[in-house]
Amino acid sequence: MEKRDKVYEGKAKIVYLTDDEGLVIQYFKDDATAFNAQKKGTIVNKGAVNNKVSTTLFTHLAGHGIPNHFVKQLSDREMLCKKLSIIPIEVIMRNIVAGSLSKRTGLAEGYVLKRPVIEFYLKDDALGDPMINESHIDVLELARKETLDEVRGCAHKINDILKDFFNSRDIILVDFKLEFGFHHGKVLLGDEISPDTCRLWDKSTKEKMDKDRFRRDLGNVTNAYEEVLKRVQG
Ligand code: UDP
Repeated sequence: MEKRDKVYEGKAKIVYLTDDEGLVIQYFKDDATAFNAQKKGTIVNKGAVNNKVSTTLFTHLAGHGIPNHFVKQLSDREMLCKKLSIIPIEVIMRNIVAGSLSKRTGLAEGYVLKRPVIEFYLKDDALGDPMINESHIDVLELARKETLDEVRGCAHKINDILKDFFNSRDIILVDFKLEFGFHHGKVLLGDEISPDTCRLWDKSTKEKMDKDRFRRDLGNVTNAYEEVLKRVQG
């Protein structure tokens, strides 16, 4: 597999074309940003950890009937993926109140939701990824109704699978972000699933094991990420 031109560089990842037009390489960086990139830093070894955590979770999800873009892990920081035409919507699933949901509703962090909450955000850095609803998605033609129905159903299934998976590893899945895209007309899960994109709490101590340690300067960020990897890999 030959690595070709860089097609995209984001906050935490770089995407490269390959000699196969249907495949790309995701390179995972140690760079971290928060609060719409107002806070910047690095988390030592994060790229390698997130690549491995995502590899394990994508493989687990594929085994449970969730089609996704993962093909194989190429190296410590590189993952071979199916090339997606990304749907410009970030899907957030929540089981427990934290972060922006706490701010928006006044519910305390840690409040256990009766049922999972799903939210949609417009993928647009310049606008700060504003929250949008299904009516906006329809009128702005971000996704067709059938596509959104499929994405919603898939996101709920992923939540069920990952909640069980993390629970069996003594981790509470508080909330997480998903991105989807089209590959040869099929909707696939894309991006990454890692401590950068999930809130993960230790089951007994409720200690944070995710990017909130970086956002809130709680220290021991690398240790927390590496502990997630250790538990995820069993
Ligand atoms: N999230 C993400 N990328 C984003 C925004 C959120 O991966 O651009 C994840 C975040 O890590 C958390 C969940 O989505 O697991 C919900 O985030 P929230 O809306 O509470 O926003 P935040 O508090 O991170 O600003």
